[in-house]
Amino acid sequence: MSLIGADTFKWEDQDKRLNIMFRMNRNIKYGDNVVVREDEIAAFYRDGKVLAYMDRPDRYALTDLNAPIVGKLVKALSGAQQQAELIYLQKRAFDGKFGSKQPFQFRDKEFGMVNLRVFGEFRYKVSNPENFVNQFVGTLNFATSAEIEERIKEQMVLLIYAALGDMKNQGMGVADLASNLPNIEQVVLSKTNDHFALYGVGIDKISGLYVSLPDEVQKAVDTRASMQITGTNYAQYQSGQAMREAASNPSGGAAAAGVGVGAGIGMGYTMVDAMRSAQQQPAAGTQPPAPQQVLLCPKCGAANDVGAKFCNSCGTKLIVETIPCPKCGAKVSPDAKFCPECGNPMKATKKCPKCGTESPGSAKFCPECGTTF
Ligand SMILES: [Zn+2]
Ligand SMILES: [Zn+2]
Ligand SMILES: [Zn+2]
Repeated sequence: MSLIGADTFKWEDQDKRLNIMFRMNRNIKYGDNVVVREDEIAAFYRDGKVLAYMDRPDRYALTDLNAPIVGKLVKALSGAQQQAELIYLQKRAFDGKFGSKQPFQFRDKEFGMVNLRVFGEFRYKVSNPENFVNQFVGTLNFATSAEIEERIKEQMVLLIYAALGDMKNQGMGVADLASNLPNIEQVVLSKTNDHFALYGVGIDKISGLYVSLPDEVQKAVDTRASMQITGTNYAQYQSGQAMREAASNPSGGAAAAGVGVGAGIGMGYTMVDAMRSAQQQPAAGTQPPAPQQVLLCPKCGAANDVGAKFCNSCGTKLIVETIPCPKCGAKVSPDAKFCPECGNPMKATKKCPKCGTESPGSAKFCPECGTTF
C-alpha cells in the first residue's frame, strides 16, 4: 500500500555502478517507500548521524503499519522534524589503487635519506554502515564515492609509511625492501582493522605493493643484489661483468684488453693475472679488491669497470698500455726499448707460435700454453 503523495525511492542503476555510496538528492519523509536490493544497504541520516539503516532486501513503506520493522525510523520521521536523508551503500567489495603523492623520507643507514614512493592495490568494503556514513558524510561531509576512495587511499599510504618506519627501526634497509614486500603487505593488512574501524571500512586484501626508489639508489641496490646471488664481492662482480661483456663482444672492449685468446700485452696481461690470482684465492669478501679489478681514474678517482677505456666521470683516458719487464716485472710502455727500472732490453721477447703470448726472450716454454720454444 502507498499513501497519496508518497514517493518511492530506489538506487537507479546508472547511479549505482561504480559508486560505493549514493546520496539521494531528495529527502525522504513519513509515508515514502524505500526499495533495498540484495546488494544494498539503505541508511537514513539526519543531524550528522545515522538514524537507522536497513540491509535486508525489501520494499519498505515508512508508515506506522510497518512500525515493528522500521519503528525507530518512523518515530523519527513522524515527529516535529519529518525529513531525513537517504544514503545508499553497496555491500560488495571495491578494488582501489593507491600511490603516494608525497614521498616518504626513509633514513637508511647505507644510503642516507632516501625518498620512497609506494604503489599498490587493495580491496575494501563497507564493514559498518553507521560508522561509514557518520564519518564520511557526517564528519567529512563527502558527497561522492570518489572522495571516499581518495580518503581511504591516503590512509592506506599513511599505514604503509608507518609500517615502513617500524620495520626500519627494526633494522630493515632500503636494500631489503624488495624482498620484504609480501611481509609489508601482511603487516599493513593486520593494522587495517583497527585503523579503518572508525571509518566503517574493511580492507580484506592488499596486493601488488611496489616501493619505488630514486634511480641511483635502485641501481646500487640491484648491483648488490646480483652480487649476493653470485656470492662474490664487488671487485669480483665487476671483473665477472667484464668477462661477460668480453664474451658477448669479442671484437672490442674488454676482449681487446685481454680476456680473449692470445692476450699478452698491456692491460690484458695484468688483467689475466688478476683473474688468475682471484681464482686461486676464492675467499670472497675477505680480499681487498686488487687494483686491476676496479679501475680508479687517476685524475678524478671515480671507479670504472675493468676494461673501460675512458673514465665514466671525467673522460680521462684510463688504459695506459704497458708490458711487464721480463726481468723485474715493472710496467713499461710498449714503445720503450729498455726498462726504465732495471735497464733490461724490452724487445727481447718471443711471441708463442701457438697461442701468441709474449714471453721474455730467455723463456724456454710459453708460460701460457707450455709450447717449447
Ligand atoms: Zn675520471
Ligand atoms: Zn725491468
Ligand atoms: Zn703459448
